[in-house]
Amino acid sequence: MKENSHKNIGYVCSTLQCDRGLGSKVAMRWIDAHGSRTDFTFANLEQQSNRFANALVSNGVKKGDIFFTFLPKMPEQFFAFLGTLKTQAVCGTLFSNFGEDALLDRLGDSGAVGIITRKSLYKKVARIREQLPSLRFVILVDGEDDFAAGVLSYSRIMAEASDQYTVLPTSPDTPSVLHYTSGSTGKPKGVLHRHGSLPSQMATTAGVLGLTEDDIYWCTADQGWVTGTSYGIIGPWSLGVTQVHYGGGYDAQAWMDLLAAEKISVWYSAPTALRMLMREEEKIFTGANLASLRSIFSVGEPLNPEVIAWSQRLLKRDIYDTWFQTETGAIMIPNRPGIPIRPGSMGKPFDGIEPAILADDGTPVGDGEQGNLCLKVGWPSMFVTYLNNESAYNSKFKNGWYYTGDTARRDNDGYYWFMGRSDDVINTAGHLISPFEVESALLEVEEIAESGVIGAPDELLFEKVVAFVHLHERYQPSKDLEIKIRLHVSNRASSIATPQEIIFCEGIPKNKSGKIMRRVLKARYLGEDPGDTSTLEI
Ligand code: AMP
Repeated sequence: MKENSHKNIGYVCSTLQCDRGLGSKVAMRWIDAHGSRTDFTFANLEQQSNRFANALVSNGVKKGDIFFTFLPKMPEQFFAFLGTLKTQAVCGTLFSNFGEDALLDRLGDSGAVGIITRKSLYKKVARIREQLPSLRFVILVDGEDDFAAGVLSYSRIMAEASDQYTVLPTSPDTPSVLHYTSGSTGKPKGVLHRHGSLPSQMATTAGVLGLTEDDIYWCTADQGWVTGTSYGIIGPWSLGVTQVHYGGGYDAQAWMDLLAAEKISVWYSAPTALRMLMREEEKIFTGANLASLRSIFSVGEPLNPEVIAWSQRLLKRDIYDTWFQTETGAIMIPNRPGIPIRPGSMGKPFDGIEPAILADDGTPVGDGEQGNLCLKVGWPSMFVTYLNNESAYNSKFKNGWYYTGDTARRDNDGYYWFMGRSDDVINTAGHLISPFEVESALLEVEEIAESGVIGAPDELLFEKVVAFVHLHERYQPSKDLEIKIRLHVSNRASSIATPQEIIFCEGIPKNKSGKIMRRVLKARYLGEDPGDTSTLEI
């Protein structure tokens, strides 16, 4: 039984580490937004995740059910994640800034049976709960007592649950983690992973990030996204590594103090955060004691060469850019220590990963030429499906190649260079935003007749969300209306999807079948030639 249990991610990240003699080792140093620290050992992780697993089972959760966390970064998030996986239910994670529409799409599509959240966020769930017939219960981390029917107190259920739990044999194909990702059309798609993803996450955590048991590691990613689960939970804990998790937001001085005080040796962050640091006063960095810091990694958006030059000058270290996506589950194309970096390049494929740059007809393009970035199928952490959307899943594969949706080129020396997306998805501060989702939220605003949303280049965020808005005749553009529109998108979709720029216009260009021509809007925004507009209706 132990043999098979080894493939369970929850088991490997806690029980197995205790069995290896690491029970008293710090697994997570939790630092809250005010800077106060609490250490959790691997034995604590084991006990808390066992309690959570037992609590789920006593509330009727079964193998294959879908359970979500909807929390900011906080210790309970980690216990719930591992505990859910131990029961062989699927754990989905939701970004805590999501608004009602975003929640409804994800909880509704997945048929989630339960969710763990906190009082301030529960309000959003309460407003849509009637539309979620499968959602049987909600757990509130800050509820001292059960709140109402089906709204349970975390402290009560954890106190009543045993800290002993036997993980049942788990096949590599048992579904594990669920993250929703945005496309340029339709609703977000539920990317489903399996417990058998573990070898990819372990191999890349060791082979790219270079983590060993002696490291102290900090990953800034939120657990709502794949980096936060693959490299903020699974990879490091499966290798017995101590992680620092910080509940505060961006603050350059606090971050440098944390790197120094906690003696972080490996730091995984993102280009927008690094670009924000680059704008700060130099003395914050020249005064920081970063003696323990061995390497810095980045993921999520292109990393500008200027950021690497800044880091080399002030932090005295390279930054290793890495490329992967929700669907790949683990790092595919990274820069890593030991291989000279080419600033601006995503690096070279990880061991066992075979990328190709293919033309739309599937033929390989020559080195130096732009094409679709594809991956030969078959690495362990490859997603299993898009939940309830097999046709979208199938459309991503052709002749044994997975089409990533990115365009890239390879140079003569085998380095890969990101060029862009082959669809209209917007990447703002590393978060993929669907223009369709923003347009849908905009259409709910009474004054708006139609809208078209694009991503436009931005120095800080890589791309910003720009909304072209056509008002009904009886309404006039105004500052107040702009605020109303922004608030609405923030409440319905999320704060990151909120348009940075709103452009009032007389009509939205569409083709004859009514499809919004975002390409034309983008050209208009950039002052470029929109190309062939012969199929345009407006
Ligand atoms: P997600 O699935 O939300 O993690 O987003 C994955 C997408 O983010 C990729 O398909 C790329 O478009 C983008 N991305 C991730 N890492 C990088 C990188 N290192 N350089 C450029 N784009 C990246």
